[in-house]
Amino acid sequence: MRLISRIVILASTVGSSFSFVPASKRSSTSGWISPKSRQNVDGLMASNSDDFDVVSVDLEEGRDYPIYIGAEFDPTEAGKMLRSHVKGKRVLVVTNDKLAPLYLEKYEAMLKEGGELQVDTLVLPDGEEKKTMDVMMKVLDKCLELKLDRKVTFVALGGGVIGDMVGFAAAIYQRGVNFIQVPTTVMAMVDSSVGGKTAVNHPLGKNMIGCFHQPECVFVDTDTLKTLPDRELQSGIAEVIKYGLIRDDEFFEWQEKNMEALLNRDPAALRYAIKRSCENKAEVVKADEKEAGIRATLNLGHTFGHAIENGSGYGVWLHGEAVAIGTAMAATMSARMGWIEEDLVKRIYNILHAANLPTELPVDSPMTAETFLDAMSVDKKVADGQLRLILLKGALGNCVFTGDFDRDAMTETIDEFVAECAGSKATV
Ligand code: NAD
Repeated sequence: MRLISRIVILASTVGSSFSFVPASKRSSTSGWISPKSRQNVDGLMASNSDDFDVVSVDLEEGRDYPIYIGAEFDPTEAGKMLRSHVKGKRVLVVTNDKLAPLYLEKYEAMLKEGGELQVDTLVLPDGEEKKTMDVMMKVLDKCLELKLDRKVTFVALGGGVIGDMVGFAAAIYQRGVNFIQVPTTVMAMVDSSVGGKTAVNHPLGKNMIGCFHQPECVFVDTDTLKTLPDRELQSGIAEVIKYGLIRDDEFFEWQEKNMEALLNRDPAALRYAIKRSCENKAEVVKADEKEAGIRATLNLGHTFGHAIENGSGYGVWLHGEAVAIGTAMAATMSARMGWIEEDLVKRIYNILHAANLPTELPVDSPMTAETFLDAMSVDKKVADGQLRLILLKGALGNCVFTGDFDRDAMTETIDEFVAECAGSKATV
């Protein structure tokens, strides 16, 4: 573990910071189902009431949508429910070459049952390094080849990479068509499939090209996690930990007690963690759909993390692994400024380690202070040239989104983290 005793407490200013009341301190809307969502749910409830939970993402102008979470679905009932979110007669299911042999046939069949829909499929290459404009263009090429019109619905079947790319294609094809998210990783189930952020990477910055476009529904079948590699499972848990840290202290405490169950893929533990994460995300998205303020707090650890992903080469670190190191950096920096207690930093390192997530850069990392600062200077949270960060402040479950922090504390934290890797040795 990084030497917490080395943390220096510096004077800090608060000023223009943005903070909010954590979830567990407010009356919760968790589990609330909007009338529109309820309509879709009731049909399924009649035959399958114990098989799923529903979390509503409650947006303005009738754009609310349900997140269905469950396992061992009856494919006929689940197919009915999925088809109820398709407005036109044509569907394009997009997945990748790793997932196609596992799940494509099943989803194609579910959508085709009843014979009302014409379902086409597209298989893209797998990998974060394939989350590019060129690969996303293949979705648009396919749509034009198939002469799909504006009433088509895309189905994104996969992890965050497929979800983000297909969502972006849906946002721009003929100025916007409907899409459904079928996330198959923990990362996508607890985070990327919810809230409508879509994007592809640019060589100079992660997720730099994209827009907001909300799905019609999110369909989470936790059974798909049975085939997810351990490392990917752990990567997704980094975002679960995030919700506890930024706004839900009770959830963090639950994770401290149940991390082993999550890693062992205990179905009840996974389902609870996914549901509670989605409830947290839905509340934040409802409050700030376009990230004017509070939504930015979902990016705890991401500014450092994106710099690590970008600076190390896409695909070297999994997104959640980079976020885990970024979270360790944000916690270290927060403590360095005296914003959180050392005991909380220890708990954060402990939970990241319990989840088998990294908290420091490896010795052969190419990251230097310069690569960090360079990548961070094009972060999406930079406003008018000023870098803003999500930092922890106060008791567990509280954070701030602010540009008003001690720059020395940031550079000292970066220096501390790069001190042991080869990249820094070359520049020191
Ligand atoms: P991913 O989509 O690359 O999936 C990880 C790997 O697991 C891939 O190889 C994939 O093919 C494989 N896989 C997926 N599901 C599987 C299954 N059930 N069984 C076996 N293998 C499976 O990565 P990810 O971690 O899901 O998502 C990371 C991406 O999500 C990043 O690009 C990140 O920027 C993005 N993201 C977006 C948001 C958002 O709000 N839009 C939020 C968080 C992360």
